[in-house]
Amino acid sequence: MSSVYRGDEYSYFDMKKLTTIRVGGKVSEFVRPKSISDLRLLIKKKNKIKAIIGKGSNTLPSDEDVDGVIIGMSDFNKSNLLQVKNNIFTVSSGISAPKFSKFVSNYGYSGAEFMTAIPGTIGGLLSMNAGCYGTEIWEIVKRVQTIDLEGNLHTRTADDYKISYRCLIPKYKNEIFLSADIILIKSSVEKVKDKIKSLMLKRIMSQPLEKFSFGSTFKNTKEISAAKLIESCNLKGYKIGGAQVSLKHANFVINANGTASSKEINDLINHIATKVFNKTGVKLEKEVRNLGDGFEF
Ligand SMILES: Cc1cc2nc3c(=O)[nH]c(=O)nc-3n(C[C@H](O)[C@H](O)[C@H](O)COP(=O)(O)OP(=O)(O)OC[C@H]3O[C@@H](n4cnc5c(N)ncnc54)[C@H](O)[C@@H]3O)c2cc1C
Repeated sequence: MSSVYRGDEYSYFDMKKLTTIRVGGKVSEFVRPKSISDLRLLIKKKNKIKAIIGKGSNTLPSDEDVDGVIIGMSDFNKSNLLQVKNNIFTVSSGISAPKFSKFVSNYGYSGAEFMTAIPGTIGGLLSMNAGCYGTEIWEIVKRVQTIDLEGNLHTRTADDYKISYRCLIPKYKNEIFLSADIILIKSSVEKVKDKIKSLMLKRIMSQPLEKFSFGSTFKNTKEISAAKLIESCNLKGYKIGGAQVSLKHANFVINANGTASSKEINDLINHIATKVFNKTGVKLEKEVRNLGDGFEF
């Protein structure tokens, strides 16, 4: 059945369009809430919710169709971009991180430059403790606002989470991020823009940004990067069906020409992990999440 669109709700929505790796079956209901009241209405369907998603830039859906609701947060409170008070910016979880970074750079605020390179929503970055070039989002978060699956609002701080590299374990499970208060430092527009320019240049040189991917597939180990381990197994360019280890960056699994299935992507991820373990004894840990991970509905 083809996708049907009613306002902000879609029936039989193609999950390929939900993620940057562009794989997956269909979902019977995909909804993008715009406000807390929209979200509260959706939460009432608790037993039907299967996943919360931002931009889907770190998410792998299955090839099988999903019978239930996926909540897409990328339109949430978008019109309410941010408020600022004494260097603290309140930003909606639905705002794209690069958009936020560029916005504050126009006013010469420093600290969010790294976000220009991460193509997710603020909510997705919070959930992943995403970061790059030496900064992680939770280092600059003062507090967040969340909603639980009963519809109650909460204010949380870093103390309410166990935070580590690309990992956030909440004390209070199953809460959706609504917004974050982010602390930035006043600098000059020129300095901030220069920093963004140089880190984006690094990205363009080292990552296959023109290909469908979810960024780094595996977490780096403390001692050595996942890319170096994968390269040491001569896996650059290795293919399973339409899934391929990027020639440009060994830790990027790509959907080479847009025809890969989720199974092929998964098989390639497992193949890489096995090869690296057999050769080096290192057990690579996945950074990418399966659709629905992080919540217990
Ligand atoms: C080209 C490319 C480069 C990348 N570079 C980096 C990088 O440098 N550093 C890095 O850390 N990552 C990187 N990534 C991965 C990805 O962009 C980040 O993990 C990002 O934080 C995911 O955000 P998202 O909105 O797409 O989240 P999604 O993939 O949609 O979701 C990820 C997780 O967050 C949860 N989630 C999303 N929104 C909410 C919310 N509002 N409340 C509660 N939970 C929520 C989901 O349930 C899921 O568990 C890259 C990806 C690509 C494609």
